[in-house]
Amino acid sequence: MKDTRIAVIGAGMAGLTAALSLQKNGFKPIVYESAPELGEVGAGLTISPNSTHGLEYVGLADELAKKANVTQTQAIMHYKTGEILATSERGDIPRQKYGANYYQIHRADLHEMLCNAAEKNDPGCLVLGHAFESYTERDDETEITFANGDTVTCDVVIGADGVRSVVRGAMFGPEDPKFTGNVAYRGLIDKGNLPHDLFTPSSGVAIAPRKAFTRYLVRDGSVINFVAFVRRDGWNEEGWSIPVTQEELMEEFGDWHPRISNLIKAAPKDKVFKWALYDRDPLDQWTKGRVTLTGDAAHPMLPFMGMGAAMGIEDGAVLGRAFGASSDIDEALTRYEAARKERANYVLLMSRKARERLQSDNPEQYDDSKHKNEESLGLFDYNPGTIPV
Ligand SMILES: Cc1cc2nc3c(=O)[nH]c(=O)nc-3n(C[C@H](O)[C@H](O)[C@H](O)COP(=O)(O)OP(=O)(O)OC[C@H]3O[C@@H](n4cnc5c(N)ncnc54)[C@H](O)[C@@H]3O)c2cc1C
Repeated sequence: MKDTRIAVIGAGMAGLTAALSLQKNGFKPIVYESAPELGEVGAGLTISPNSTHGLEYVGLADELAKKANVTQTQAIMHYKTGEILATSERGDIPRQKYGANYYQIHRADLHEMLCNAAEKNDPGCLVLGHAFESYTERDDETEITFANGDTVTCDVVIGADGVRSVVRGAMFGPEDPKFTGNVAYRGLIDKGNLPHDLFTPSSGVAIAPRKAFTRYLVRDGSVINFVAFVRRDGWNEEGWSIPVTQEELMEEFGDWHPRISNLIKAAPKDKVFKWALYDRDPLDQWTKGRVTLTGDAAHPMLPFMGMGAAMGIEDGAVLGRAFGASSDIDEALTRYEAARKERANYVLLMSRKARERLQSDNPEQYDDSKHKNEESLGLFDYNPGTIPV
């Protein structure tokens, strides 16, 4: 079993965590990534205690403690008055309650950490510039064809190629993800000499009718990450990094409380980007033959509970454990899907509902006790490194 040839398609959070967990369980997966090089793309990601457990399981506890920010207090604010409507204390509490910290981190820092760890375990395991195109399953092996013309044979394929998964299309037929009517803007601002008020409490979300603005600290607290969500009726632009002008941002947030509008004014002019938010309905089946899905490829979700990366990390940790516990591929894939599908599909559906909490028609009437959030739903109380597989 340990010599099973495993091809992971996509070096995102899910694919890389899966690779690390497989390595920890004695396998030598190869990760094929379409990007020709690994650059610094994206902004902040939330690593809630359930995903911290996953990253700690694959050996990243020390790196995470060095590079991620422990969130201290999270606040919900009124977009116009700046009034604090609710707070959640974090700091040491998540480790005491759930056994793991609540972190916030720059996506690029986490990505680099995962890539370095996988390459350190098995130099050459990351193959760049290989965009998966199709596969052919034969009795005893599977052949993958890449857009650059290369082909490889393997025993099992893990589709970790994100929200627009080509592997998923090859398995179940092409189907575009759905535009959810939300666009996200993101930016990173050097804290420098900015007034304290603009980043206190250290993590906050301002709620408004049809909009929400989240900001938190990354990179040792020296950089403020912001992500703002705006409802839109239509969308026709592709990609994670569509440039945004200062005028567009001011049109959306210019009349908000100075705690937000002044922060936006401080954003570097050429470094704010937007992307459209897509999801898909839950899949009944993640596995077909010896091909399975993980992360956004299996369950792309809205970011309103900050659980997208967390679910991919959980999947990855469990996938490696399922292979480690099995005597053949079918058993491993069955164990993996049985352990993960219900939870990830549930979080996908709850993430749709969570929009109501953060985009409120009457923010002045906000009552935290009337909303379910990721913690009150019990999502933090899960350890992918120890759950039964
Ligand atoms: C460039 C980028 C920037 C992002 N920025 C943010 C952000 O700022 N904030 C946020 O909340 N989320 C961001 N995300 C999404 C977030 O990382 C994911 O929603 C979450 O981490 C789940 O991870 P995943 O590994 O399933 O998917 P992803 O992180 O999307 O990773 C999928 C990987 O598969 C690769 N890939 C795609 N198609 C193919 C193919 N045909 N063959 C081979 N490889 C392929 C992609 O290049 C990517 O590396 C970003 C994703 C990407 C790819």
